[in-house]
Amino acid sequence: MIIAKTINEVRQAVSQAKQKGQKVGLVPTMGALHAGHVSLIREAAKQTDFVVVSVFVNPTQFGPNEDFDKYPRNLNADADVCEKAGADVVFAPEVNEMYPKQLDTWVNVEGKLTETLCGASRPGHFRGVATVCTKLFNIVLPDLAFFGQKDAQQVAVIKNMVKDLNMPLEIVACPIIREESGLAMSSRNKYLSETQREQAAVISRSLRECEAAFLDGETDCAKLKLLIMTTLSEVPTIEPEYICFVYPDTLEPLDEITDRALVAIAVRLGPARLIDNKILSLNK
Ligand code: AMP
Repeated sequence: MIIAKTINEVRQAVSQAKQKGQKVGLVPTMGALHAGHVSLIREAAKQTDFVVVSVFVNPTQFGPNEDFDKYPRNLNADADVCEKAGADVVFAPEVNEMYPKQLDTWVNVEGKLTETLCGASRPGHFRGVATVCTKLFNIVLPDLAFFGQKDAQQVAVIKNMVKDLNMPLEIVACPIIREESGLAMSSRNKYLSETQREQAAVISRSLRECEAAFLDGETDCAKLKLLIMTTLSEVPTIEPEYICFVYPDTLEPLDEITDRALVAIAVRLGPARLIDNKILSLNK
């Protein structure tokens, strides 16, 4: 496995793979890799011949008061994980390599897709995500790029961007990988104490209870939201930021579920901001 620190190195490796007729997969990450990332890399190795994993803590998607400086970084450990999971290249550029100067060009996905859910409390976040993904797509030229449904809004934003701008690749969304307690795996779980980690299991439990009520016939989003709020209130230190029911592809708000819905949650717990979600569907 190659560790490429520069754009030229990764381009060269990809170009050799393409000359051999290999299909290229990209898994964009910010490192501190866990089983969630591993599932994406394995899926990429299944569906493509040459897998590039980018490990880059992207400064442009962090707000001024967010955790860019303390975000966990450990390239050696990440490279091991990538190699075992079947990656061919780890692309791990320094910030200067990706942003040698202040950008004059940004990719902005407009409207509900970026204004609701996390976009409401993280202004500029999705501009940073859309811009860095565009840069990575242009550098790696993947046939397929793999994203986790854990970040459901990110999947919706990137799919829409690829469609709107006719980018020549396919976006593959992969299922959420969870700890035994149900807690969705996240690099930010490292910020939690042992007790907080146990408490955080209530988030996924509230989503499972919501799904059970929905499958039992409850389609009123206000009632389902109340159910989630009641469960979350069992842990008084959890501060909900949002609990939203939206159409999965457009993220338009929903009052009544007729067919499919995305229920998405963000909470604060101690030093961490945690997100989780579930697709509610009668035809699973
Ligand atoms: P991150 O390093 O947090 O930016 O995540 C990189 C990719 O891994 C994104 O597409 C995430 O959605 C995905 N991912 C993160 N956590 C999980 C998880 N628990 N299950 C599945 N995918 C995940």
